[in-house]
Amino acid sequence: MTGHIFVIVAVLAAIIGLVMLNRINNNFYRKLFELEEVFEGELDFVHLAKSILGKIVKETGASAGIIYWFDEIQDEFKLKSILGIPADKINNITRILRQPKGVLESIKDMTAAFILDFKRTSAHDAYGNLRELANNYRCLMVLPLNVQNKVLGTCILFGSNGLFNKQQLRLLSFFAPRVAVRLDNTRLYQLAKETALENAKLYVNISKLYQKATLDELTGFYNRNFLMQRIKEEIKKAFRMKHKLSLIFIDLDFFKSVNDEYGHQVGDQLLTEFGELIKGSIREYDVACRFGGEEFVILLPQTEWKNAVELAERLREKVEKRRFCAAYGNLHITASFGVSYLDRFDVLPQLDEEQTIILTENLIAWADEALYQAKKNGRNRVILYTADNNS
Ligand code: GH3
Ligand code: MG
Ligand code: MG
Repeated sequence: MTGHIFVIVAVLAAIIGLVMLNRINNNFYRKLFELEEVFEGELDFVHLAKSILGKIVKETGASAGIIYWFDEIQDEFKLKSILGIPADKINNITRILRQPKGVLESIKDMTAAFILDFKRTSAHDAYGNLRELANNYRCLMVLPLNVQNKVLGTCILFGSNGLFNKQQLRLLSFFAPRVAVRLDNTRLYQLAKETALENAKLYVNISKLYQKATLDELTGFYNRNFLMQRIKEEIKKAFRMKHKLSLIFIDLDFFKSVNDEYGHQVGDQLLTEFGELIKGSIREYDVACRFGGEEFVILLPQTEWKNAVELAERLREKVEKRRFCAAYGNLHITASFGVSYLDRFDVLPQLDEEQTIILTENLIAWADEALYQAKKNGRNRVILYTADNNS
């Protein structure tokens, strides 16, 4: 009989024990869950560190707290957030924690959180000389903020009224690695954002430099340097694909007299409007460039000479009909055009760099030569370069 009673009591005690344990565990995870709410939506390291510290201090009833984060470059823990410590005391506390064999030096090799109770005399000397802290606080709780056994930072809590308890230590030991991961992620996120911003700035600067190096400021057309490069590329492409390639060299007629009569500013305005006229008359993959002064070049990939001459003629007519600089009295001007082309790539066995450069210079020189003929023959005309008309 007594045996039966004993068994029943034992079973009841076990059931009650299990229920209690379950309650304690539920309580533990509920608290952990509540602490983790602090992570939601925050992407700024300093803000997040501040919120975390606030939450931990509140949870433990600590009178103060600090979060340090390890700076790999300077090889020391840097203060990231403080709560409850007057500004004039913080340097001294950090000095005490940073002393040789002190808390911060020791934490690097630890992954377990611990409590230092200053009522126990040994605690005064456990991590360097902590007597000054012991005068002001009852205890410390030190939480290593580690990710996979690597300590990235630490959260130190200062207790005044009573001792931190084991439940708090257990709860925060679970919480600390999660804090470390979150803080580290925000740090990496910020680093990535800053790097991306730097890269973007660099890209903009390079683009600006590139624009400066390749574009003419007045018309927004490519400049001569860029053109020479593009001609080389287009010659190589034309050779490879057996495409034809043409080029138009344009020079405004008697442009000097526009400047002389109306001034340089009006001359500039006319050049801009002339540029727009060209822009509106060519295809997307044609390359228009201001070769210099009142001289323009249009490179026409995949275009045979007949079509280039037609385009030049259309442009010539447009210029002749157009009245420029309305604000200054609708100026009339004409332009002369020289056209050159390449259409016999098959005669070359292969195109090396030297031949490409020679062909580039030839293409320009031939168009320039044809332009000279156009000027000589009365201006306002289009001349196609042929070996015959220049021999
Ligand atoms: P031609 O018919 O023989 O080409 O006569 P032209 O007067 O056009 O030729 P010339 O080479 O004698 O003069 C070109 C003029 O272009 C000289 C210069 O005043 C003017 N010019 C060159 N660059 C600019 C510029 O950027 N802005 C302005 N307003 N004028 C320019
Ligand atoms: Mg000229
Ligand atoms: Mg001219």
